[in-house]
Amino acid sequence: MKKIAFFCIPAHGHTNPMLPVAEELVKNGNQVRFYSFKEFQQKIEATGAVFVSCSDYLTELTKEEQEGLKTVSTTEMTIQDIRITLRMNSFLEEEFRSFQPDIVFTDSVCFWGKLNAWKHQVPLVVSTSTFAFNQLSSQYMKHSPKEMADMIFGLPRISKELKTLAPYGYQVKSALKLVQSDNQTDSIVYTSKRFQPYAESFSDHYAFVGPSVFSKALPDKKKARPLVYISMGTVINDKPDYYQKCIQALKDEPVDVIISCGHTLNPASLNPLPTNVQIFPSVDQLDVLSKADVFITHCGMNSVSESLYMATPMVLFPQTGEQKAVAQRAVEINAGVLLTDDSVNGIRTAVMKVLNNAAFRKAAQECSDDFRACSGPAGAAAFIASAPHVSNGVDIIKELNQAKGIFQMLFWLFVGVITLLISFLVSWKYVWIIVLAARIISSPIGKALQKRKYASLVKKYQNPA
Ligand code: UDP
Repeated sequence: MKKIAFFCIPAHGHTNPMLPVAEELVKNGNQVRFYSFKEFQQKIEATGAVFVSCSDYLTELTKEEQEGLKTVSTTEMTIQDIRITLRMNSFLEEEFRSFQPDIVFTDSVCFWGKLNAWKHQVPLVVSTSTFAFNQLSSQYMKHSPKEMADMIFGLPRISKELKTLAPYGYQVKSALKLVQSDNQTDSIVYTSKRFQPYAESFSDHYAFVGPSVFSKALPDKKKARPLVYISMGTVINDKPDYYQKCIQALKDEPVDVIISCGHTLNPASLNPLPTNVQIFPSVDQLDVLSKADVFITHCGMNSVSESLYMATPMVLFPQTGEQKAVAQRAVEINAGVLLTDDSVNGIRTAVMKVLNNAAFRKAAQECSDDFRACSGPAGAAAFIASAPHVSNGVDIIKELNQAKGIFQMLFWLFVGVITLLISFLVSWKYVWIIVLAARIISSPIGKALQKRKYASLVKKYQNPA
């Protein structure tokens, strides 16, 4: 029997996947203490884990801070994470002293879980509710200019804030170290190896256990008319204009529509509704998806996983870089189409395209079979209870970085020689053009070579001579 401390941020998408894992660990006789927030108390206690409230350590945010979080500003979220860690310091000191956990299981962006595991030298397992993102898979994240600006201009604020951690015994060099998936940390990822981008670049410290869903229900799509389900998730869902466009797009089509609009918007504000449309603040999403024929989704990792688990193809309408990564992967396996035009016509065309093309249904069904064959919460629980894990030593990222170093050295050596030749044979005046051109082409060449090297390393380790 192990004593396991669970930590998570106050977000449904991050907390939900951890719940069946807690239930499984408790069922196997382990003691689980789940550090979370009041709104999750009921769900957590239903797993048999002991709920410990951290709600007192969330303070009222200023208007500016609230706005930052609403627009999913990475800078604002990082800063809030650091401040909460500091506010919780004495409380968690005492908790670690009295509970003495054998293992910490923490969400990947819950800094106070990670930092306290490092500080108290307790084996750590990370819960990754999105794809695992390393230098390869993060290429799937297409950040908008606004997100890029937020990250670049936020860096000085973040590094200033990080410095406040050191006096409390939290040693951390960069924010990246806190959030990026590395090949040394034991990690649970709630997807299959088949759906994870660049899955082979993750070491055997990773367990891809498949989506963590409570329901074992099978999809049942038999009914008189197709069902379209629409949700923008639980975070940024106050979008009356968008729901109105969906309603206009589908009101005259031979389909039924269910919209989950979240708790901020009053569903009555969209009245009068056409007879084929129903709208709720929240629904039992897995139940609806088991019957739905198309899901118009914001591409949260949980929503997409649940959709594929229930063999429902999607119209993908991602809002953030992370959601764009999930959407891209869903498109790659042909389980849906991107909503590139969110006008009334654009929405109708995308929904009809998915409804009228069996290939999308087939791809979603294949993914459902793949997900259901994963080890699930039982696999995750076994992995956590047997942490820390010892690696077989294969680390494709390390090998790629070594190759990258050699490429950079040879590339700049070559550029240096060319520069000297041109300057002697033609003129010094043109040197800046060569350096600029080299700077511009080095990144795409580097990336293309990295992809080739990745493919050859995967081959090498899959078919060892
Ligand atoms: N969800 C739900 N009912 C709803 C809408 C959402 O139960 O009406 C759940 C959904 O099943 C999923 C989670 O909320 O598990 C949303 O997580 P996701 O990662 O998709 O998006 P986020 O809300 O974090 O943006």
